[in-house]
Amino acid sequence: MSSENKKHWYPAYVGLGSNLHDPAHQVETAFELLGEIRATHLISRSSLYGSAPFGGVQQPDFINAVASLLTQLSAQELLRELQRIEGERGRERGEVRWGPRVLDLDLLVYSNQKIDEPELCVPHPGIGERNFVLLPLGEIAPELDIPGLGRIASLDADSIEPKISRIG
Ligand code: ADP
Ligand code: MG
Repeated sequence: MSSENKKHWYPAYVGLGSNLHDPAHQVETAFELLGEIRATHLISRSSLYGSAPFGGVQQPDFINAVASLLTQLSAQELLRELQRIEGERGRERGEVRWGPRVLDLDLLVYSNQKIDEPELCVPHPGIGERNFVLLPLGEIAPELDIPGLGRIASLDADSIEPKISRIG
Protein backbone atom coordinates (compact mmCIF):
# COMPACT_ATOMS: atom_id res chain seq x y z
CA MET A 1 0.00 0.00 0.00
CA SER A 2 1.42 3.41 -0.87
CA SER A 3 1.62 5.98 1.88
CA GLU A 4 -1.05 8.03 0.08
CA ASN A 5 -3.58 5.27 0.57
CA LYS A 6 -2.71 4.60 4.17
CA LYS A 7 -5.52 5.67 6.45
CA HIS A 8 -4.81 6.94 9.92
CA TRP A 9 -6.89 6.33 13.00
CA TYR A 10 -8.24 9.48 14.61
CA PRO A 11 -9.75 9.79 18.09
CA ALA A 12 -13.27 11.25 18.13
CA TYR A 13 -15.78 11.94 20.90
CA VAL A 14 -19.52 11.78 20.36
CA GLY A 15 -22.23 13.17 22.66
CA LEU A 16 -25.42 11.11 22.95
CA GLY A 17 -28.75 12.48 24.16
CA SER A 18 -32.36 11.34 24.30
CA ASN A 19 -35.54 12.24 26.11
CA LEU A 20 -38.14 10.14 24.28
CA HIS A 21 -39.19 6.51 23.93
CA ASP A 22 -37.18 5.01 26.80
CA PRO A 23 -34.18 7.35 26.64
CA ALA A 24 -31.80 4.98 28.47
CA HIS A 25 -32.61 2.28 25.92
CA GLN A 26 -32.11 4.75 23.06
CA VAL A 27 -28.67 5.66 24.35
CA GLU A 28 -27.67 2.02 24.94
CA THR A 29 -28.74 1.14 21.39
CA ALA A 30 -26.88 4.14 20.01
CA PHE A 31 -23.65 2.93 21.65
CA GLU A 32 -24.05 -0.38 19.79
CA LEU A 33 -24.74 1.38 16.49
CA LEU A 34 -21.70 3.63 16.96
CA GLY A 35 -19.62 0.46 17.29
CA GLU A 36 -20.93 -0.75 13.93
CA ILE A 37 -19.92 2.32 11.91
CA ARG A 38 -17.57 1.35 9.08
CA ALA A 39 -13.84 1.88 9.63
CA THR A 40 -14.56 2.86 13.24
CA HIS A 41 -14.11 1.28 16.66
CA LEU A 42 -16.03 2.11 19.83
CA ILE A 43 -13.25 2.53 22.41
CA SER A 44 -15.09 3.52 25.57
CA ARG A 45 -18.42 4.73 26.82
CA SER A 46 -19.34 6.86 29.79
CA SER A 47 -21.99 6.17 32.38
CA LEU A 48 -25.47 7.45 31.64
CA TYR A 49 -26.34 10.83 33.14
CA GLY A 50 -29.80 12.20 33.81
CA SER A 51 -30.76 15.85 33.65
CA ALA A 52 -34.02 17.68 34.06
CA PRO A 53 -34.85 19.87 31.05
CA PHE A 54 -33.81 23.45 31.68
CA GLY A 55 -35.85 26.56 30.98
CA GLY A 56 -39.36 25.47 31.88
CA VAL A 57 -40.25 23.68 28.67
CA GLN A 58 -42.54 20.77 29.48
CA GLN A 59 -40.69 17.68 28.28
CA PRO A 60 -39.29 14.48 29.75
CA ASP A 61 -35.89 14.31 31.47
CA PHE A 62 -32.84 13.76 29.31
CA ILE A 63 -30.36 10.93 29.36
CA ASN A 64 -26.89 11.89 28.17
CA ALA A 65 -23.61 10.07 27.68
CA VAL A 66 -20.37 10.31 25.71
CA ALA A 67 -18.59 7.73 23.54
CA SER A 68 -14.98 7.72 22.43
CA LEU A 69 -14.19 6.32 19.00
CA LEU A 70 -11.19 5.62 16.84
CA THR A 71 -12.03 6.18 13.22
CA GLN A 72 -10.49 6.24 9.78
CA LEU A 73 -13.35 8.42 8.53
CA SER A 74 -12.98 12.14 8.13
CA ALA A 75 -14.96 14.36 10.50
CA GLN A 76 -17.45 15.07 7.70
CA GLU A 77 -17.86 11.38 6.91
CA LEU A 78 -18.32 10.58 10.59
CA LEU A 79 -21.00 13.28 10.95
CA ARG A 80 -22.90 11.74 8.04
CA GLU A 81 -22.80 8.36 9.79
CA LEU A 82 -24.09 9.97 13.02
CA GLN A 83 -26.93 11.61 11.08
CA ARG A 84 -27.76 8.30 9.41
CA ILE A 85 -28.08 6.64 12.84
CA GLU A 86 -30.20 9.55 14.15
CA GLY A 87 -32.48 9.15 11.15
CA GLU A 88 -32.78 5.40 11.54
CA ARG A 89 -33.62 5.69 15.23
CA GLY A 90 -35.68 8.86 15.05
CA ARG A 91 -37.98 8.26 12.12
CA GLU A 92 -40.93 7.03 14.11
CA ARG A 93 -44.54 7.53 13.19
CA GLY A 94 -46.45 10.02 15.27
CA GLU A 95 -43.41 11.86 16.52
CA VAL A 96 -44.16 15.50 17.21
CA ARG A 97 -42.30 17.74 14.83
CA TRP A 98 -39.83 20.03 16.61
CA GLY A 99 -40.60 18.07 19.77
CA PRO A 100 -38.20 16.36 22.17
CA ARG A 101 -35.41 14.25 20.72
CA VAL A 102 -35.43 10.48 20.31
CA LEU A 103 -31.71 10.59 19.66
CA ASP A 104 -29.20 13.37 19.26
CA LEU A 105 -25.63 12.50 18.27
CA ASP A 106 -23.16 15.39 18.27
CA LEU A 107 -19.57 15.21 17.13
CA LEU A 108 -17.90 16.88 20.10
CA VAL A 109 -14.22 16.56 19.30
CA TYR A 110 -12.35 15.16 16.28
CA SER A 111 -8.63 14.67 16.81
CA ASN A 112 -6.98 18.06 17.33
CA GLN A 113 -8.94 19.62 14.49
CA LYS A 114 -10.82 22.89 14.47
CA ILE A 115 -13.53 22.93 11.83
CA ASP A 116 -15.86 25.84 11.17
CA GLU A 117 -18.15 24.94 8.30
CA PRO A 118 -21.89 25.61 7.87
CA GLU A 119 -22.69 21.92 8.45
CA LEU A 120 -19.94 21.05 10.91
CA CYS A 121 -18.42 22.93 13.79
CA VAL A 122 -15.73 21.08 15.78
CA PRO A 123 -15.09 21.18 18.67
CA HIS A 124 -18.85 21.38 19.18
CA PRO A 125 -19.61 24.97 20.30
CA GLY A 126 -21.75 23.91 23.29
CA ILE A 127 -19.15 21.79 25.10
CA GLY A 128 -17.98 24.43 27.59
CA GLU A 129 -21.50 25.35 28.72
CA ARG A 130 -23.06 21.91 28.95
CA ASN A 131 -22.34 19.91 32.06
CA PHE A 132 -24.24 16.97 30.57
CA VAL A 133 -21.37 16.86 28.07
CA LEU A 134 -18.50 17.91 30.36
CA LEU A 135 -19.18 15.36 33.10
CA PRO A 136 -19.38 12.24 30.92
CA LEU A 137 -16.50 13.49 28.74
CA GLY A 138 -14.39 14.09 31.86
CA GLU A 139 -15.26 10.61 33.10
CA ILE A 140 -13.79 8.83 30.06
CA ALA A 141 -11.15 11.36 28.96
CA PRO A 142 -9.98 13.49 31.91
CA GLU A 143 -6.72 14.40 30.14
CA LEU A 144 -8.40 15.45 26.90
CA ASP A 145 -7.19 18.83 25.69
CA ILE A 146 -10.01 20.34 23.67
CA PRO A 147 -8.80 22.67 20.92
CA GLY A 148 -9.69 26.23 21.96
CA LEU A 149 -11.09 25.22 25.37
CA GLY A 150 -8.27 23.52 27.26
CA ARG A 151 -8.05 20.46 29.43
CA ILE A 152 -11.38 18.96 30.34
CA ALA A 153 -10.47 18.77 34.02
CA SER A 154 -9.86 22.53 34.08
CA LEU A 155 -13.47 23.24 33.09
CA ASP A 156 -15.73 23.57 36.12
CA ALA A 157 -18.68 21.42 35.14
CA ASP A 158 -20.21 21.44 38.65
CA SER A 159 -20.89 25.17 38.55
CA ILE A 160 -23.06 24.91 35.43
CA GLU A 161 -26.83 24.44 35.32
CA PRO A 162 -28.80 22.19 34.97
CA LYS A 163 -27.84 19.88 37.79
CA ILE A 164 -27.30 16.36 36.60
CA SER A 165 -26.73 13.00 38.18
CA ARG A 166 -25.00 9.83 37.16
CA ILE A 167 -27.61 7.10 36.88
CA GLY A 168 -25.72 4.03 35.75
P1 ADP B 1 -28.72 20.28 18.12
O1 ADP B 1 -27.77 19.12 18.28
O2 ADP B 1 -28.03 21.63 18.23
O3 ADP B 1 -29.91 20.17 19.00
P2 ADP B 1 -29.35 19.12 15.53
O4 ADP B 1 -28.92 17.80 16.10
O5 ADP B 1 -30.70 19.20 14.88
O6 ADP B 1 -29.29 20.26 16.63
O7 ADP B 1 -28.23 19.55 14.49
C1 ADP B 1 -28.40 20.68 13.69
C2 ADP B 1 -27.23 20.82 12.72
O8 ADP B 1 -26.01 21.00 13.43
C3 ADP B 1 -26.96 19.65 11.83
O9 ADP B 1 -27.59 19.84 10.59
C4 ADP B 1 -25.43 19.63 11.66
O10 ADP B 1 -25.06 19.85 10.32
C5 ADP B 1 -24.99 20.79 12.50
N1 ADP B 1 -23.72 20.58 13.22
C6 ADP B 1 -22.70 21.46 13.23
N2 ADP B 1 -21.67 21.01 13.96
C7 ADP B 1 -22.05 19.81 14.44
C8 ADP B 1 -21.39 18.85 15.27
N3 ADP B 1 -20.15 19.06 15.75
N4 ADP B 1 -22.06 17.71 15.58
C9 ADP B 1 -23.33 17.51 15.10
N5 ADP B 1 -24.00 18.38 14.31
C10 ADP B 1 -23.36 19.52 13.97
MG1 MG C 1 -27.25 17.39 17.26
